[in-house]
Amino acid sequence: MTIFSKIINKEIPADIVYEDELCLAFRDISPVAPTHILVIPKKPIRSMAEVEREDKELVGHLMYTAARIAKDVGVSEAGYRLVANTNDEGGQSVPHLHIHILGGRSMTWPPG
Ligand code: AMP
Repeated sequence: MTIFSKIINKEIPADIVYEDELCLAFRDISPVAPTHILVIPKKPIRSMAEVEREDKELVGHLMYTAARIAKDVGVSEAGYRLVANTNDEGGQSVPHLHIHILGGRSMTWPPG
């Protein structure tokens, strides 16, 4: 069980900004941008690399929800970045699929 499962189960606290039957969104504990929110599925999928055909609608829901949250918190018009770090070389540290919403400052490219 990952720390994100514990957040889903309300076993540890988080600054939750959105929740529905499929996903949860909460503020990152170590923000790297003025707005840094994670959107996670309640289904314990380890990473994008583990997504199956049956998860297509769920992944779409996560992306749609991220875009809605970006609007709600006021970063949509200026712009923001969605990131899904995947496995070791992708820089993933928590093995529960999550979409980072990063906003509130200009992003650089390429990422590190
Ligand atoms: P990643 O490195 O892409 O796997 O992202 C994991 C993110 O989870 C990091 O940005 C961490 O700061 C964040 N994180 C880890 N534990 C918590 C927690 N308890 N509450 C909120 N965010 C967390």
